[in-house]
Amino acid sequence: MLNVPSQSFPAPSSQQRVASGGRSKVPLKQGRSLMDWIRLTKSGKDLTGLKGRLFEVTEEELVKHNKKDDCWICIRGFVYNVSPYMEYHPGGEDELMRAAGSDGTDLFDQVHRWVNYESMLKECLVGKMAVKPAIPKGMLPKSQVTDTRAREGPISPSYDWFQTDSLITIIIYTKQKDMNLDSVIVDYQDDSFRAETIIQDYSYLIHMELFREIQEDFSVRVVANVGKIEIVLKKKEHTSWKCLGRALENHNSFTPRKDTALYYRKCQLISKEDVTHDTKLFCLMLPPSSYLQVPIGQHVYLKLTIAGTEIVKPYTPVSHSLLFKLMEPVLPNDKYIYFLIKIYPAGLFTPELDHLQIGDFVSVSSPEGNFKISQFQELEDLFLLAAGTGFTPMVKILNYALTNIPSLRKVKLMFFNKTEDDIIWRSQLENLAFKDKRCEVEFVLSAPTSGWNGKQGHISPALLSEFLKRSSDKSKVLICICGPTPFTEQGIRLLHDLNFSKDEIHSFTA
Ligand code: FAD
Ligand code: NAD
Repeated sequence: MLNVPSQSFPAPSSQQRVASGGRSKVPLKQGRSLMDWIRLTKSGKDLTGLKGRLFEVTEEELVKHNKKDDCWICIRGFVYNVSPYMEYHPGGEDELMRAAGSDGTDLFDQVHRWVNYESMLKECLVGKMAVKPAIPKGMLPKSQVTDTRAREGPISPSYDWFQTDSLITIIIYTKQKDMNLDSVIVDYQDDSFRAETIIQDYSYLIHMELFREIQEDFSVRVVANVGKIEIVLKKKEHTSWKCLGRALENHNSFTPRKDTALYYRKCQLISKEDVTHDTKLFCLMLPPSSYLQVPIGQHVYLKLTIAGTEIVKPYTPVSHSLLFKLMEPVLPNDKYIYFLIKIYPAGLFTPELDHLQIGDFVSVSSPEGNFKISQFQELEDLFLLAAGTGFTPMVKILNYALTNIPSLRKVKLMFFNKTEDDIIWRSQLENLAFKDKRCEVEFVLSAPTSGWNGKQGHISPALLSEFLKRSSDKSKVLICICGPTPFTEQGIRLLHDLNFSKDEIHSFTA
């Protein structure tokens, strides 16, 4: 049984008070936490009032259910009675009511596409939307919506394949020149082969049940100058294939990423090390039949089933250390994913994660995020403002900047924490600053002990104006900021006040 405190949730100081992206979260009544909701859904209570029956819901019917105590919402063609959930919704009742009696898919996707509503709301399911012969705009099935929009984006890739006795080679012609190995994600699980190619904000999918079985390991190659991707599969039996296989859902589609569902694969917990009193370094291993590299500045979603309900939370992979060149052996980064995760004793997800044993599995989604490596082009001054675990995106950025940006003159990190004990990888950071003269690190504590001689307080105009000195008047600058939402929001305001432009600031949010 999970022990959830009985005070109002989120706690007044909780990071959950404000949603990422700046949407305010509302205080929830006592007994209305997510864990309380999960308990209610398991209680056997008839939450839809329909005694377990499922309906085909017409549009005319849907619009009738538009009141707080009778509120139906359609998400991706499925209709839920969300009235019982109203008081548990972290964004508040008014936010849910915006979609009352209508298709809330777009609204939902804008705010929290990654939340696993199918699992959270399964006891509220009323049924499916009845499909009409002529479908009005706004209610189009997903594939049609995405096809229409895709025409406005980059040119759709195409694919081809050929075989030898032992190998199948799939070639994806992306028609783009800036393809990297982290633009391709390949999975072969449950008899389904999936190769997703990310092109700007679009996703090109090959999704097939293959003609015959293949071995677990395969190789991926990118010929960058012609934008060609080659995936080489090993046949299990050396026989000739008549075709590549049978097309599965969304095969050969080119879709805006925001319209594609998150895809998960089960990863195994390999190691877990203490980093501070409450933060740990987790290492997860991808299945042998998955190929995935998380690009710099992007996050993934971890999924666990807690009390029978699938819970999903975002986390930002890090490299296994900051001083990776000095520490051997390094596990290959296309098989292992590292996370620095703070365990909140009263949190829903992190205590469960912490209880996993080595060898247990966690589902890991494909990467998401809007950070682009092109933001580093010609960069001279890189400033990183991180608070608490908001340090995580800065890890790969630091590593990349110091090794891959020839124009870089300096990289300065201002790292905000409550106490000295909370500073993640302090000695590694100090070492890095000592070894590389371009690198400077400043720690700022909001609740220091009396012995602390360094900087104190919260993010402020005084701290920032002193810290953010360009190396020359016109130097190209990028400022990355990440931490609790109020920290990030305040930081962005202060940076604008200091005349940094929108293009010079990148903030990390969900
Ligand atoms: P929650 O249940 O969300 O609880 C959070 C806080 O609320 C805690 O302080 C908890 O004590 C308090 N609380 C919970 N229940 C109650 C209650 N009933 N009453 C009062 N107080 C309560 N985090 C990392 O550690 N590492 C990362 O790399 C990382 N990357 C992220 C990337 C992105 C894009 C985003 C948006 C967030 C990231 N996070 C990261 C934060 C992470 O997603 C979770 O929010 C965090 O791990 C907390 O999850 P939780 O379910 O354990 O806690
Ligand atoms: P924390 O509570 O330990 O606070 C760390 C520091 O943040 C504090 O010392 C203070 O300087 C500052 N801070 C905290 N609350 C503030 C406020 N209201 N106003 C101004 N400054 C404030 O931090 P934590 O528990 O490690 O939380 C880290 C946060 O970073 C979480 O909210 C997490 O979701 C977020 N995060 C986001 C991403 C992302 O990519 N979006 C990645 C990792 C972490």
